[in-house]
Amino acid sequence: MRFTNVLARLLGVAGLATIRGVALDEVRGEIVVSVRLHRRLRSRCGRCGRKCPGYDPGVGRRRWRGLDLGCFKTFLEADSPRVSCPEHGVVVAQVPWAEHGARFTRSFEDLIAWLATECSKAAVSELLRIDWHSVGAIIVRACERVYAGQDRLRGVRRIGIDEISWRRGQRYIIVVLDHDSGRLIWAAAGRDEKTLGRFFDELGEERCKLITHVSADGATWISNVLKARCPKAVRCMDPFHVVKWATEAVDQARRQAWNNARRGKHKQLARDLKGARWVLWKGGEALTARQRATLGWVERTNRPLFTAYLLKEHLRLIFQLPWEAAMDLLIEWLQWAFDCGIEACVELAVKVADHLDEILNTIDWGLSNARLESMNTRLRLITRRSFGFHSPQPLIALAMLSQGAMRPALPGRALPAAA
Ligand SMILES: [Zn+2]
Repeated sequence: MRFTNVLARLLGVAGLATIRGVALDEVRGEIVVSVRLHRRLRSRCGRCGRKCPGYDPGVGRRRWRGLDLGCFKTFLEADSPRVSCPEHGVVVAQVPWAEHGARFTRSFEDLIAWLATECSKAAVSELLRIDWHSVGAIIVRACERVYAGQDRLRGVRRIGIDEISWRRGQRYIIVVLDHDSGRLIWAAAGRDEKTLGRFFDELGEERCKLITHVSADGATWISNVLKARCPKAVRCMDPFHVVKWATEAVDQARRQAWNNARRGKHKQLARDLKGARWVLWKGGEALTARQRATLGWVERTNRPLFTAYLLKEHLRLIFQLPWEAAMDLLIEWLQWAFDCGIEACVELAVKVADHLDEILNTIDWGLSNARLESMNTRLRLITRRSFGFHSPQPLIALAMLSQGAMRPALPGRALPAAA
């Protein structure tokens, strides 16, 4: 095989273009491969791919970053004539190795997308010598390719709706997951009825009727949409959120005790209470010996705070018990919480009572918290890695590629089924 044919294969342009020249810049560590598109592929609209009359030769030649060859950054270079599309007007002609408007080949973008779901930000940037801003747009395009022609909402019956904050809590995305597959099926920027309505638009009226269960966090804007779109579905509370309310109540009680200690100039006590934060936060079964000792200290020195902790732990337990035992405990729990005299816990009891039907549905369904919680944790990790992206779209794409049904394929390999 001739060297140029080998090179064409390596660059993914075999059968698409002819190699006209290769330049190697050792100082910059770059290889530039100049190619000429085959005649039958020329004069296509960059946006729709339709064969169109030529317009002009365009301005100069274009370059696309491709997969590295050895240690060298590698670029494809080709003419960039413009065509006149009846629908899209004057546009740059299509090239088969890259998306319209992209400065990277599809193979390169696929590699980036795969790495972004598997490695740290720093690893991706350093390995491929690319800044994180560019990665954002690349992931968005890769996600569109991976999900093109896929019906993400096929066969969904039981869904969970949640919101995730990004950019230090000022902005939100809505995420919808399929409880049966455990995968993320939809995400969009926003936290309002209109945005969520778009999910149900996409689902379509017929499929809305097939939704049997919906879990959410009890927010009004979600309830309103559900009432309108799938009124017959059983409404459930994500146990994750109920436990979170309880954890926040404990923290409120702890802060109260801490403030009291500070006001009373009990410096050591205030320090110890501050240190007890994570112990009170954690699930009882996960505590280390040392943390159990801290908890013992809370029990001996601060009865109300310890009660708040016990209330939280028992509320967690309710979601792990079989129906009847859960019911018994829930009734006792409500009585206990209403009578405990701790402001934060009484407020918690009111909240639980307000959402009692949905909580009972959750217990009845046996909705597992572990999976929801781990999805929530993973989405939060993705959000943290998405700092530096200018818009929510890369974050959404990254979430869909790592938690959705489709995974990005490595260049030159078949698309893997998600594990
Ligand atoms: Zn067009």
